[in-house]
Amino acid sequence: MSEQPAPRVTVALSGGRAVAGRLHARRRDAEGQWVYAVSIEVPAEAVRPVDGEDYGQVPTERAGGRPEWVLQALPQDTPDQRALVLHRADCWAAAEGRLTRASDKEAAIFVQHGWATACDVCKPTPGREMISG
Ligand SMILES: [Zn+2]
Repeated sequence: MSEQPAPRVTVALSGGRAVAGRLHARRRDAEGQWVYAVSIEVPAEAVRPVDGEDYGQVPTERAGGRPEWVLQALPQDTPDQRALVLHRADCWAAAEGRLTRASDKEAAIFVQHGWATACDVCKPTPGREMISG
């Protein structure tokens, strides 16, 4: 797909949190209030499926719904002091150095423990697989 993504917005949630979103449409209602149609990205744990809905046609970023990740070892990486960068498997920035494929769970654990930092280019988000139905 070469369609341009909708422009980005920041969406304020209750509790003072804010998340990145995309603005798809806006309309002004009869009272003059603006209403925006926005999609937001949240961790999969925050989303619950609705009975009877079919999620089979939801676009999924990786074949089979299982993102693949690559850990790139920095020169100073040692078993005692991990220094890794986590990339999406297809990231162009992960072209050199010692590269190790990681499962979604492994990648999430590495980031959670600070053993790997997320790549600035591909912005990997392990542990946030979409609902597979
Ligand atoms: Zn990357």
